[in-house]
Amino acid sequence: MLSRVRPGEVRDHLPQSAPERGESYETIFADFERVILPGITHWNHPGFFAYFAISGSEPGVLAEFLSAALNVQAMLWRTSPAATELEDVTLSWLRQLLGLPDAFEGVIYDTASVSTLHALAAAREIAVPEVRGAGLAGLPRLRVYCSEHAHSSVDKAVILLGLGHDGLRRIPADRDFAMRPDALEDAIAADRAAGMLPIAVVATIGTTSSTSVDPVDAIAPISAAEQLWLHVDAAYAGVAAMVPGCEWILRGADRADSIVVNPHKWLFTPFDLSVLYCRRMEAIRQAFSLTPEYLRTSEGEAGVRNLMDTGIQLGRRFRALKLWMVLRHFGAEGLRARLTEHMRLARVLAGWIDESDRFERVAPVPLSVVCFRLRGDASDEEHQRILDRVNASGEVFLSHTKLDGRFVLRVAIGNLHTTEEHVARAWALLNDAARV
Ligand SMILES: *Cc1c(COP(=O)(O)O)cnc(C)c1O
Repeated sequence: MLSRVRPGEVRDHLPQSAPERGESYETIFADFERVILPGITHWNHPGFFAYFAISGSEPGVLAEFLSAALNVQAMLWRTSPAATELEDVTLSWLRQLLGLPDAFEGVIYDTASVSTLHALAAAREIAVPEVRGAGLAGLPRLRVYCSEHAHSSVDKAVILLGLGHDGLRRIPADRDFAMRPDALEDAIAADRAAGMLPIAVVATIGTTSSTSVDPVDAIAPISAAEQLWLHVDAAYAGVAAMVPGCEWILRGADRADSIVVNPHKWLFTPFDLSVLYCRRMEAIRQAFSLTPEYLRTSEGEAGVRNLMDTGIQLGRRFRALKLWMVLRHFGAEGLRARLTEHMRLARVLAGWIDESDRFERVAPVPLSVVCFRLRGDASDEEHQRILDRVNASGEVFLSHTKLDGRFVLRVAIGNLHTTEEHVARAWALLNDAARV
């Protein structure tokens, strides 16, 4: 399922220029099968356990067809009222499923990276509104805080927002890889004493390596007392809050200024669709809205929402359609059942690992990702060999990470069609590979 093409292979099979004369669908499709498909890694395969396993679903694929067929561009309410209003309705449905308060207004972006960028742009707008007009020159150095395990999208956001990469301070984590609130307080105090201007904290619910959960209920009062924007990155894990018994996952997040959740990760929505919930959407509008004459509309004055005002893009794809169709097709009950099953499968695998004398688990399993390595002090190379052997089978695909500086194997469960048999097969392949 991991594509086996060599670098350049797909390109080498294709002509260097576009055809002068149009070609038949038959010829084009034959090349799709011959050249393109071998170069595809099958994210929709039930044995896909790498990164965060994601899966598209029928209703989502169908919605993408419809949205492309209609070629919707929803920059203004009037350029497709249904796209704007369906986004409101669908994000309100999802917000209720996650148990978040009404005060959160939602907006759809392509990815969590872009959602986080907008959240931090809003944080900057609130802290130093003069930046929009005059830029950052002459201001104290701005600071953003996140845990040492936070996603690299936070780094990219501070770089892009002109804070400089040094403007991001990574806070040490505890044994379970969660941000230490005491260390956060110390860092903020030290920065203030050094004349810097703290503007935001990013807490992660479900970090990318180990799905550790930062203690947002302890971090929220600190950001409130310091008047810092609190952004919660729950890109993968946030949707778990809809499962009874998992509401704790968003504990404290209701006090955040913004939260990102990715339906394209663990909610069966074809890539891409990320949702930013924000309590202060006016800050995002303040940071981004700018209306040239040709985009002025009479409805604009009448208070309708124009999606071009809530972000850097002018044009907007009609992404809400696929989330709407996914929510309707599965229903809340169907979604909960599938998430519950993925978490059960992760616990089953964790149980096998805990009983094994070959492997050991290296992180708690709060959700659907299991991190483990060989017992003893096997080298990175040995782990890499196991991973390569398992992936060469073509039956499953696993990826790795590093925790405490050590190579860690990782199984992420999130595909609609993954069953216990697929997980058992991955476990058998791992044991075979480790035995050689
Ligand atoms: C996957 C992930 C991201 C980035 O997601 P994109 O939508 O690909 O930008 C950010 N944060 C966390 C915690 C993630 O798991």
